Amino acid sequence: MQPPERIDNDVTHGQLQLGWAHAAIALDHAALREACRCAECQFKRHHGTPVSAPADVRITAIEPVGYGVQLIFSDGHARGIYPWAYLAELAAIATG
Ligand SMILES: [Zn+2]
Repeated sequence: MQPPERIDNDVTHGQLQLGWAHAAIALDHAALREACRCAECQFKRHHGTPVSAPADVRITAIEPVGYGVQLIFSDGHARGIYPWAYLAELAAIATG
């Protein structure tokens, strides 16, 4: 999957916006935090503990990793890598 041409982090509204030439998606920061796939969060889910995040959690930094981004959250969690395809998949789930 191609990297987006635009990445906007809307901290006020808690939305991460990605734009391609023919598509655009917006993802809720708290939903992204809850969808984290790092080893720690996967372990919790695997053992039946949902990963929950307060609605006001925010992405405070975005680190490019080539095939996606590493998202740093205001609750101190910074281990999640989000490939572009996973972000698109999450957006599809969010919009039905
Ligand atoms: Zn995580």
